[in-house]
Amino acid sequence: MAVSKRLRFEILRRDNHTCRYCGASAPSVPLRVDHVTPVTLGGTDTPDNLVTSCEPCNSGKSSVPPDAALVADVDATALRWATAMKQAAAEMETRDAGRDEYHQTFRDAWNSWHYEHAGEHHTYELAPEWQSTLDRFRAAGLPASAWPAIVDAAMTSTGVKVSNLFRYACGIAWRQVTELQQRARELLTARADE
Ligand SMILES: [Zn+2]
Repeated sequence: MAVSKRLRFEILRRDNHTCRYCGASAPSVPLRVDHVTPVTLGGTDTPDNLVTSCEPCNSGKSSVPPDAALVADVDATALRWATAMKQAAAEMETRDAGRDEYHQTFRDAWNSWHYEHAGEHHTYELAPEWQSTLDRFRAAGLPASAWPAIVDAAMTSTGVKVSNLFRYACGIAWRQVTELQQRARELLTARADE
C-alpha cells in the first residue's frame, strides 16, 4: 500500500524537511519519504518505519552514515540495516559495469610484459580461466589498482616457470586478500568496541 499524501506530509514535518541519513535539507536536495525496512521485507507504512530521505541517500549513493541524534525516534538498527542494504544494492548495480574494467586493468598490466622469441615480441600466455579467476578476486574485494604491482612482482621474480606465472601472481593476490580480510576484521572489532 502506498503511503498517503497526508502521512508523507506528517513525516516530512516530523523530520523538519531534513534527510535523516545525512542531514541534508530542502531545498538544496530533493527529499522523499522512504521506508526504513522495505515493504518487500515486511516493513510497514507506519511512522516508525518511515523517514525523510534525500535522493542520494535513497539510492545508496551517499556514504554518510546515519547520524545517531537525528535517528533517535526511529529504530537505529533498522536504519543502519537499510543504509547497508541500499549500498549493497548500489554496488550490485555497478558490479557488472566494473567487471570489464577490472579485467582490462589486469590485462594491461599483464601485456606490458614481453618476451622475445625468433626475433619477435610476445606477450605471456594467460590461463584460459583467467577472467573467472579475476572475478573471484574482485568479489573478495581486491581492488583493480592492486594488480599492476602484483603482475610486476610475478614477472620479476626469479625461478618461476613461464607456465606458472599466472598462478604465481594469483598466489600474491590471495595474500593481499588475506591482508584485506585481516584489516576488515580489525575494523569490525574496533567498531564493536565503540
Ligand atoms: Zn541524505
